[in-house]
Amino acid sequence: GLSPDAYRKRHEITVTGDNVPPPFTSFEDTGFPSELLREVLEAGFAAPTPIQAQSWPVALQSRDIVAIAKTGSGKTLGYLVPGFIHLKRVLKNRQMGPTVLVLSPTRELATQIQAEALKFGKSSKILCTCLYGGAPKGPQLRELDRGTDIIVATPGRLNDILEMRRISLSQVTYLVLDEADRMLDMGFEPQIRKIVNMVPARRQTLMYTATWPKEVRKIAADLLVNPVQVNIGNVD
Ligand code: ADP
Ligand code: MG
Repeated sequence: GLSPDAYRKRHEITVTGDNVPPPFTSFEDTGFPSELLREVLEAGFAAPTPIQAQSWPVALQSRDIVAIAKTGSGKTLGYLVPGFIHLKRVLKNRQMGPTVLVLSPTRELATQIQAEALKFGKSSKILCTCLYGGAPKGPQLRELDRGTDIIVATPGRLNDILEMRRISLSQVTYLVLDEADRMLDMGFEPQIRKIVNMVPARRQTLMYTATWPKEVRKIAADLLVNPVQVNIGNVD
């Protein structure tokens, strides 16, 4: 295989941070549990995408990360797979509440993320609940009552449900802001900040974004601690 530097150069990966671990250039490099590797191979994936290759080893070190890569680059599994491994590590009772929280801008995207979580988390019997507006709350609340490991939510609906005191985020230790740039464009910043205030400060925070304008930099500076930055294709 290629050396870490050669791999980064070929795939236009730029990293910023202390002692950034080398990319996983193949699935064999990842050391993922065999059930998970089987699902990835069954999906027909030949190799990790560049954002997965570089963000997986960083996320597995429990470090905060900002990942900047364009749409279609495989960001969803970039944060979900380390999230599954995080879930295995914390080994908690589902009735205590969710451990992984993913914020997403739209119902459509949230539903796609949930589908990916259920597909690739099948072997670990992951419970994943999706919360989004424009649909009645009843079925979503009933799903929450069954217990859940992962919540994928749009900021508006999650805030509504938090205000009803129907859920606690006190066990969330892995927080993902997906499509952070779009969430800010849609005006979700106040809701995001309210939600994050209800998540413990001792957590891992991962931000995935397609662009890196100053509004996104600002919220990253406020919510992430000493993040490793991974940039694919010189997006800036
Ligand atoms: P993004 O969030 O960056 O826009 P997605 O996570 O939605 O991208 O992934 C885009 C597509 O690529 C999805 O259909 C996904 O299943 C697929 N994909 C993810 N990882 C890989 C991989 N390692 N190899 C090939 N395809 C992949
Ligand atoms: Mg995405």
